[in-house]
Amino acid sequence: MTKVFSEEFTNISIKDLMIPADKVAHVQMGNNLEHALLVLTKTGYTAVPVLDAQYRLHGLITTNLIMDSILGLERIEFERLQNMKVEEVMNKDVSRLNVSDDWMKALKLVINHTFVCITNEDGVLEGIFTRRVILKKLHKQLMILNSRFPK
Ligand code: AMP
Repeated sequence: MTKVFSEEFTNISIKDLMIPADKVAHVQMGNNLEHALLVLTKTGYTAVPVLDAQYRLHGLITTNLIMDSILGLERIEFERLQNMKVEEVMNKDVSRLNVSDDWMKALKLVINHTFVCITNEDGVLEGIFTRRVILKKLHKQLMILNSRFPK
C-alpha cells in the first residue's frame, strides 16, 4: 500500500502531542460540585479530569453531569452544589491511553471523545491528548502534502 503520510508523521509519539499534566486543569474527588463548576466555568472547558491526592485518575466531571445532578422536579436546586462531592457524580467509565500506545489508537479514541487522558502504570495522570492537537498536526501534514504534490 502506498504510504500517504511521511515516516516522521506516522512515527509521532503520544508524548510529543500530549498536554502535560502540570498544564491540565483538574478537580479532586472530594471537592464539592460548586468548586468543580467554578473550575469548568473559569477554564471554559466542558469536562476536566478528577484526580486523588496522588494525582491518580478516577474519572471525568462535566458541566452536564453537574447540572443533571441538581435538577429538581420544578427547578434547578443550586443549593445542593455545596453538599455534593465530585466523586458522587463523575463519570468513572473513562477511556485512557499510555504514553507508549500507538498514536493511531489515540486518533481513534478522539473520534468519540474531545480528549483522552494518558496515565502511567500506577494510574497517575501524565497528560491529555486533545482533538485540537491532532487536528493541528493533521492540517500541517496535509499542507506539506499539498505543497509536495501541487495540481
Ligand atoms: P480542545 O481540543 O483543545 O478543544 O480540547 C477539548 C477538551 O479537552 C476541552 O473541552 C477540555 O475538556 C479538555 N482540555 C483541553 N485542554 C485542557 C487543559 N489544559 N486542562 C483541562 N482540560 C483540557
